[in-house]
Amino acid sequence: MNPVKVENLTVAYQKKPVLSDVNFIVPEGKLIGIIGPNGAGKSTLIKAVLGLIPKASGDVEIYGKSYKPKDKVVGYVPQRGSVDWDFPTNALDVVLMGRYGHIGWFRRPSKKDIDFAKESLRKVGMEDFADRQISQLSGGQQQRVFLARALAQDAKVYFMDEPFVGVDAATERAIIELLNDLKNQGKTVLVVHHDLQTVKDYFDHVILLNEKVIATGPTEETFTIENLHRTYGGKLAFLEKDQIMVETKRR
Ligand code: ADP
Repeated sequence: MNPVKVENLTVAYQKKPVLSDVNFIVPEGKLIGIIGPNGAGKSTLIKAVLGLIPKASGDVEIYGKSYKPKDKVVGYVPQRGSVDWDFPTNALDVVLMGRYGHIGWFRRPSKKDIDFAKESLRKVGMEDFADRQISQLSGGQQQRVFLARALAQDAKVYFMDEPFVGVDAATERAIIELLNDLKNQGKTVLVVHHDLQTVKDYFDHVILLNEKVIATGPTEETFTIENLHRTYGGKLAFLEKDQIMVETKRR
């Protein structure tokens, strides 16, 4: 059974379509890159799949069932920039929020939940920062705490929105190691990613997106120059052989 199946998904903001008739399935136990230019609808796709924004039409199935936000099978790492890091809470509490699907909102976390959260912090190298206010963490450390929160969710499918943005090389390596650990445990991880240089190293499977799915499949056969041209249009520039750049001006 496919962990994620999206059929005929259309999403519009103020009636302007941002995703049109998106269809894809992803294989289980793989790392999947969601690739496309700025404004292609990558974040919108994740939010629509998770039911955080309404769909104009279409169906989303997670392991064959329509997804309900309280389901524990899905973990989500939003863009770091979309979060209020001044909120007065410490790293351990952020990670414990990942356990609420297991705990229930009105119960106190058990020792097991706290141990699980601490173990998740340890896996991302942040065990010494459990009591630290999140506003006093570096960008890379905040990203690690977010990943720990996702680990604490103990989900089967993960969606991560640009986890490598604003992190140093060591954190990027730590994150990719973690993603591979999740994969080796049979979990499926979908990652919005914009560094084209690393796509082939990091991902087994890709979804090339620009309002529509331009191509999807195993990276080796799908992440081709031709498909990149179809996805990025004139924004693609070739520096040298095998070096691809995308214009970096943000919207
Ligand atoms: P990506 O993640 O690929 O950069 P997004 O999904 O963030 O793209 O955005 C896709 C398009 O939808 C963009 O044109 C963006 O400006 C627009 N958009 C995103 N969020 C909103 C919103 N809340 N209201 C209106 N338009 C939005």
